[in-house]
Amino acid sequence: MASRMLTTATGSGIAAVTATKPGCRLSVVVPCYNESKVLLELHRRLTAACTAAVGADYEIVLVNDGSRDDTLAVMTGLVAEDRRIVAVNLARNYGHQIALSAGLRYCRGALILIIDADLQDPPELLPQMLALIDQGAEVVYGQRRTRKGEPWFRRTAMKVYYRLLKRMVEIDIPLDTGDFRLITRRVLDILNAMPEQHRFIRGMISWIGLKQVPVLYDRDARFAGDSHYTYRKLLGLAFDGITGFSVVPLRLASYFGIFSGIVGLAMLIYSIGGYFFANAPVGWASQTTIILVLGSGQLIVLGIVGEYLGRLYIESKRRPIFLIESVIGGEDKAPSP
Ligand code: UDP
Ligand code: MG
Repeated sequence: MASRMLTTATGSGIAAVTATKPGCRLSVVVPCYNESKVLLELHRRLTAACTAAVGADYEIVLVNDGSRDDTLAVMTGLVAEDRRIVAVNLARNYGHQIALSAGLRYCRGALILIIDADLQDPPELLPQMLALIDQGAEVVYGQRRTRKGEPWFRRTAMKVYYRLLKRMVEIDIPLDTGDFRLITRRVLDILNAMPEQHRFIRGMISWIGLKQVPVLYDRDARFAGDSHYTYRKLLGLAFDGITGFSVVPLRLASYFGIFSGIVGLAMLIYSIGGYFFANAPVGWASQTTIILVLGSGQLIVLGIVGEYLGRLYIESKRRPIFLIESVIGGEDKAPSP
């Protein structure tokens, strides 16, 4: 299987990413937080889509991300009626990206469909995605033509963010995509070998490279319930996206320093000129302005450095990324985090 292997450079040299032997043709991985109202409909639509695409050779990995409603009970009920379902019950709420990572660590498929529980992304795209894989793609990502049921401000903020991110990072993170995608086991093995705690999965997959192609779709409104991404969480994800893939913001300090140095020099020349040829121009108001502008610039830069330092600190502890409380259904084998 040498041709299927990619090598990664590690601190100790070059190590091969070990290829895992798939246990079924397709795994569907679904992170779920307080999704009891959508799970039955999700199961119905996923089952129909998977059966049409690959027959019976699939599994659905539902990850319970420390839900506070009866998501786990509904999952347990589904496991009892459908042996293709596996419920991975995490020890607490870790957030979308980590819950997804747990499911990805656990699943066994040769191909892996990543999808949200709320049916905003249609599972019915599966045949189209499979066709693209058959044509040689390693990743087929859903790219949103439109998004329904999301407020204007949020939609615009996302648009601006993705464009900003694209300018800052050197890898090609496609615009208007979430985590909805079909990936091969080859890509997943590499992804699982990436050890970081702050996981911005769509970026990590882009980082891997290989052949990645889009499939365009219209994003629906949630089937039920509200988005769990508060603006605070979105901001966290946005920072993970930028800090995970770019150190450009750290250069802001140097740019700011050069800029304020030039302005300071100009002011000096102006003040000396004023001293000799006119009345001294500098009053307390202009001084206060300068102090405030410089002070706020320095604090912002310090904050940015702090974002990187904080992430470095958390990474340095090397804690497990997630802990699994129990696995219901499937082969009862918990993966090491
Ligand atoms: N989710 C999760 N843990 C969380 C928050 C969300 O597993 O702490 C799951 C959620 O159940 C859904 C997916 O992540 O399947 C995306 O969340 P949501 O639909 O709230 O985000 P949006 O689509 O609004 O960006
Ligand atoms: Mg959603």
